[in-house]
Amino acid sequence: MSVQVAAPAVELKELSGPMDKAAGPPCEPVSAHPPGHGMAAAPCPLPAPEREAALAPSCGERPPGGACPGLPPAAGKVPQASAMKRSDPHHPQHRHRDGSDSSGAAAEALVSPDGTVSEAPRTVKKIQFADQKQEFNKRPTKIGRRSLSRSISQSSTDSYSSAASYTDSSDDETSPRDKQQKNSKGSSDFCVKNIKQAEFGRREIEIAEQEMPALMALRKRAQGEKPLSGAKIVGCTHITAQTAVLMETLGALGAQCRWAACNIYSTLNEVAAALAESGFPVFAWKGESEDDFWWCIDRCVNVEGWQPNMILDDGGDLTHWIYKKYPNMFKKIKGIVEESVTGVHRLYQLSKAGKLCVPAMNVNDSVTKQKFDNLYCCRESILDGLKRTTDMMFGGKQVVVCGYGEVGKGCCAALKAMGSIVYVTEIDPICALQACMDGFRLVKLNEVIRQVDIVITCTGNKNVVTREHLDRMKNSCIVCNMGHSNTEIDVASLRTPELTWERVRSQVDHVIWPDGKRIVLLAEGRLLNLSCSTVPTFVLSITATTQALALIELYNAPEGRYKQDVYLLPKKMDEYVASLHLPTFDAHLTELTDEQAKYLGLNKNGPFKPNYYRY
Ligand code: NAD
Repeated sequence: MSVQVAAPAVELKELSGPMDKAAGPPCEPVSAHPPGHGMAAAPCPLPAPEREAALAPSCGERPPGGACPGLPPAAGKVPQASAMKRSDPHHPQHRHRDGSDSSGAAAEALVSPDGTVSEAPRTVKKIQFADQKQEFNKRPTKIGRRSLSRSISQSSTDSYSSAASYTDSSDDETSPRDKQQKNSKGSSDFCVKNIKQAEFGRREIEIAEQEMPALMALRKRAQGEKPLSGAKIVGCTHITAQTAVLMETLGALGAQCRWAACNIYSTLNEVAAALAESGFPVFAWKGESEDDFWWCIDRCVNVEGWQPNMILDDGGDLTHWIYKKYPNMFKKIKGIVEESVTGVHRLYQLSKAGKLCVPAMNVNDSVTKQKFDNLYCCRESILDGLKRTTDMMFGGKQVVVCGYGEVGKGCCAALKAMGSIVYVTEIDPICALQACMDGFRLVKLNEVIRQVDIVITCTGNKNVVTREHLDRMKNSCIVCNMGHSNTEIDVASLRTPELTWERVRSQVDHVIWPDGKRIVLLAEGRLLNLSCSTVPTFVLSITATTQALALIELYNAPEGRYKQDVYLLPKKMDEYVASLHLPTFDAHLTELTDEQAKYLGLNKNGPFKPNYYRY
């Protein structure tokens, strides 16, 4: 199958090679994914009903049919793209505002397909979505709001809890929605916890800037060019120092931005304050209720005299909200950039149903996100997560890592480098062979479960570590998960009367057997690094740069270049993102000679690899 080729829409004048129009990169709608490239061909590990549940929008109804102008016929649209995502074993079954997974027993809030959010299974309390009533004044009282937050999740799978706000003041219980705040320029077009924290937040942003060279370079190089001039971007992402650097870069490139948080726990209050102080309408704080969450999103889009023309989403909630409440806005929207697995699923679902009415960029599957976020982020953060929670020494410890994909490879490499003895379990003979050739002993979990000091799951699968395994582990064995959802370790099976749970530290539980044996369970089986450690800014920089370029590309694309479909970022832009990060390492890239380029059949400026190349 041939892959559709198009040049990127923008050419930033001062940028060298990679952005030049003449040598345009292939621009691939994922519908044009060649068959047999791994993902599309893999069978979905979930049974059909679970698969369907996984594909349902987490926040309820689909957008009303026919609401989108100019809908393409559904038939034949992105079949492979959809198949590709459905077959992704890592997709969440149901994601909540806190990022947790409804399939795990520890997950306490359920978002049902009818759009209601309920706590389960302990209470049957339902929280009505604001969009069902179109009003936001039914907020819980202060105490109610607090207990609601606690009941939703104790440790969010993708909230950056270790990066928690330094300036959180627990004695300030007033909801930001009840406060009258102004920044130093007199604007009150924002809603953050405390605008007075702005100075501290600014320092956090400045620190992040040091490790985000590509965005800083984009700012410099695009000076005067303003490729996002006229862009009105509404965003819904984690609000951290790294996101702030992205937002301020978008601003420097000419865009106006309004922003809400995609996660009720992950906002750094001081960073939100710094953004509000510098004029960004930000609506977010750490510990929002569900109602607050939707209210914040609504405040970003429902503004007099301002309509977004671009969406940057992480999880698909913002996109869903606009589809549901303001479908006419899509007449002006030029494109959606989506970062997460979940959000991308929802886009494919819309596309499949013929209801995607604007082009969308799937940043999640960009090489520069997948390879770097998964492999390097985990290589850097696994030791940090283990160390912070247990203070353990790694040298000589026996570790079993379940799954030798990108995440598993990162974990194994880090542990091996620290002198640990690392075993690997795999189901896929190719990854298994890679593990062997990398010098790891490939075993079945049963063979080593009695002797290992640490068990780490990285499969994206479920019940990889069962109660039987947990029963057989030795005293003080540490058990943790690096995969997306909290289903990899059967934590639910540990909630039985004969076992005692002791919370010894934040995110650290001792589970004690009747004979006194205890295992050390980290983050209740949720993502260790996002729950208990910091993640490297440099890796986030790569993802953020990809997002910025995707926005530039979609915004500047001439009419008709991108259809109402889901696209991967042009390969050449992936290469460009990488090249922007090379100077940090004083790396010197070799240039092809004319003769070599001809010999390989390549343009000297790239793209250097075909779309199916696996890196
Ligand atoms: P991957 O598909 O590259 O690797 C997963 C591997 O697990 C595969 O090789 C698969 O064959 C193997 N596997 C599946 N079931 C198994 C089982 N029962 N026993 C042993 N091996 C099994 O995926 P990846 O990129 O490595 O991601 C793995 C998980 O980590 C996903 O859930 C992903 O969403 C998540 N993730 C986490 C982070 C993080 O920061 N912690 C970052 C990116 C991705």
